[in-house]
Amino acid sequence: MDIREFAKSVKTGVEKEVDLQKLRYQISCKKREIEALFADAGRTAAGAVAEGGDLYEALKAPLAAVSDAQSELAALEKELSRLLGRKCCPACGTWLEKDERFCHSCGKKMPQDEKEDA
Ligand SMILES: [Zn+2]
Repeated sequence: MDIREFAKSVKTGVEKEVDLQKLRYQISCKKREIEALFADAGRTAAGAVAEGGDLYEALKAPLAAVSDAQSELAALEKELSRLLGRKCCPACGTWLEKDERFCHSCGKKMPQDEKEDA
């Protein structure tokens, strides 16, 4: 292998590792953020009940924030799975390791890449 190609492949590997660490960090931060948002929603709900207010109205904004954070978390986890070379079950959406031949959730057989079969 050409030394420049080698250096490039090492660099790509390192960059991927950095991306993975960054994503894992973002995912753990996002999980803590969601817990904090749930705690906020709980306090808001308790306050609304204590004041005899409308619980649904009081929880609308906090729960929308939770829902936003959850979709951000899902996007981060999807990106992490993609970087790890995982694949998504077309039947149920469960993330599978790249060498899994059957979905461990619904049992669907995974289509194999032709180059892997050869
Ligand atoms: Zn499945």
